[in-house]
Amino acid sequence: MSLQERDKKHIWHPLTQHQLHPEQLAIAKAEGCILTDETGKTYIDGISSWYTCMYGHCNPHIIDAVHAQMKQLDQVVFSGFTHQPAVELSEALIDILPKNQNKLFFSDNGSTTVEIGIKMALQYHFNKGEKRNVMLAFEGGFHGDTFGAMSVSGLSVYNGPFEDFFIDVKRIPTPQSENVDDIIKLIQSINTDSNIAGFVYEPLVQGAAAMQMNNSKGLNNILDYCQSQNILTIADEVMTGFGKTGTYFASQQIDTLPDIICLSKSLTAGMVPMGITACTQKVYDAFLSHDISKGLFHGHTYSANPLACAAALAGIKQLTSQGIQDNIKRIINAHTIFDQHISKHPKVKSTRQTGVIFALDLNIEMSRYGDLRDKLFNYFMAHGVFLRPLGNTIYILAPFVISETQLQNIYDTIEGCLNHL
Ligand SMILES: *Cc1c(COP(=O)(O)O)cnc(C)c1O
Repeated sequence: MSLQERDKKHIWHPLTQHQLHPEQLAIAKAEGCILTDETGKTYIDGISSWYTCMYGHCNPHIIDAVHAQMKQLDQVVFSGFTHQPAVELSEALIDILPKNQNKLFFSDNGSTTVEIGIKMALQYHFNKGEKRNVMLAFEGGFHGDTFGAMSVSGLSVYNGPFEDFFIDVKRIPTPQSENVDDIIKLIQSINTDSNIAGFVYEPLVQGAAAMQMNNSKGLNNILDYCQSQNILTIADEVMTGFGKTGTYFASQQIDTLPDIICLSKSLTAGMVPMGITACTQKVYDAFLSHDISKGLFHGHTYSANPLACAAALAGIKQLTSQGIQDNIKRIINAHTIFDQHISKHPKVKSTRQTGVIFALDLNIEMSRYGDLRDKLFNYFMAHGVFLRPLGNTIYILAPFVISETQLQNIYDTIEGCLNHL
């Protein structure tokens, strides 16, 4: 029996309506930018397996680092203990993070880093004796699937059964060139009616909202206003982090730096799960006290797992290498050239690009996970390219190590698909 057949017996997949999609494709191996299924068919991984494997699948540098760590120290409790991979990672990460970041809190996935960011913001004010119980977030944002993260997410399509249990969140539009003054007025009025503890946002690009892009100057003004009201600003860089927007972090393209930054996905180069919530000294200091209850009583069993730390440290070495930095520039240029060409296609409504992230909207309406979306997906897969269209948006977020030929193959397949529609 194939893996695909055996899978159906016991496995419940994420984000899947099994009645409509009973078949899951069994992937047997991955190398660089290529996924190979159990029948031997290959696919270019055009979305880096959800923005994780940015230095390529099974990257030998990452494998060697994790393998060496495996033989030294596998796992140990991170309350009361520390270890070399965590310490080295903390030094290397603080080096590349926005300048105001100084403390790192470890966990094990993206949703949880947001959950922790929200708890930091709420307890920050609580510890200062101030009652602030509302969070602010963008419309259309995505921050994860745990309760706090779901609450701040603005993509509510699938939140129906849970909405009654959410924390209190007020929503604002994303800044475009025109609407920034109105947004700030809206925040002012929200903050008069209730007390805002923190603002969670995806800087520059909202990933799950089909790569919607926001205006860095406008975002800067919003962050400025929030900080003037001591509203803690929480940049969710789970998707945008580690080079994808052209800088190490999207927040480095915005003058006003966030108080808290959430990291996961390509943090560990796609090798093992880990999350980190970074913050400033100011945030950390609000938890320092002789009173034990003022500490942040949050912890996960696998916090700062040594293997994950080793993968992350090796990932940062890759990211900061000349080779990867050159690749990032090459991909940005290639996207720009493709953009000039494909934006003229009659089926294309609009295109957008930030760093190595490229997206185009079709001038055909379709639902987020509807039939047409499946048609696009099936066309791409049949042509050996793994892309995951969202609604009428097709986007590319390929590994930094993608070759020119592979990238051209993705472009040609997209164009072929548009001609075929
Ligand atoms: C993926 C994602 C998350 C959630 O991360 P998980 O590891 O899937 O829990 C949160 N925020 C953003 C911006 C994401 O892209």
